[in-house]
Amino acid sequence: MEKLHIISDGKLEVRYSTGRHDLSPVSLDDSYPSMKMGSNCLLIQKNDKNVLIDTGTGLFNPDENKYKIDYPRKLLTGLKDLNITPSDIDIVILTHFHFDHCGGCISEDKEPVFSNAVHYLQSSEIEFAEKDPTLYKYWSVFKDILGKYNLLKIIDGNFNLEKSVKLMLSPGHTAGLQYAKFTINDQNYIFPGDIIPTLWHLNNENIIYLDYDPEALKTAKRNIINDCIEDDSVMIFQHSVRPMMGKLINKGSKIGFQRIYC
Ligand SMILES: [Zn+2]
Repeated sequence: MEKLHIISDGKLEVRYSTGRHDLSPVSLDDSYPSMKMGSNCLLIQKNDKNVLIDTGTGLFNPDENKYKIDYPRKLLTGLKDLNITPSDIDIVILTHFHFDHCGGCISEDKEPVFSNAVHYLQSSEIEFAEKDPTLYKYWSVFKDILGKYNLLKIIDGNFNLEKSVKLMLSPGHTAGLQYAKFTINDQNYIFPGDIIPTLWHLNNENIIYLDYDPEALKTAKRNIINDCIEDDSVMIFQHSVRPMMGKLINKGSKIGFQRIYC
């Protein structure tokens, strides 16, 4: 049995200054326009394993002046609706260390939420987080907690996680972001994470303030788009307000999108 579930963790709201293209978050002041984003996690059930990609925000909000987060978050109730408890998760893939992707792996009482899961991280993302302890102040806490229970698996580059589940190292948004390519019931999928988090980001010029290396990101996007078309993959967007996926169509200088309803 192979199954794929897209689980929404709930909405995130940021406000941004007008006239800017990079969507830099400013304070949560009503005079600025707001943008709502979704926060979607994936559960892959394959080879008798439950593989969770990203863990949502959990209880973490690094800056309440910038990010409005609706509580309670929905990842754990989404799993419960599928009759899955956190201890049923065998593998957690953390695409990168931004709080809305990894915050949900640690509980309020500072214990691992997915207590039986090996948590996969890229070594370059750890180096990146350790260079910027202000932005990633929660990382040292996570490392201690996951390390204490021997739940950390640090990898270096592309990695075959399971048969037909691959992790791809792809710097640009952060230094060590990994995204996932996998096959479920003979259909190929790409989950590009924050490299192409919404339909809007398919446009190579649409780069946001958080993207630390825009040129590397543009290259990464081009590679993923080409790969997606070549492999006839379905792309799943992580930050769509509603879970969204579809196929990309090569239209010469433009890329078309054919939505698949889920
Ligand atoms: Zn991010």
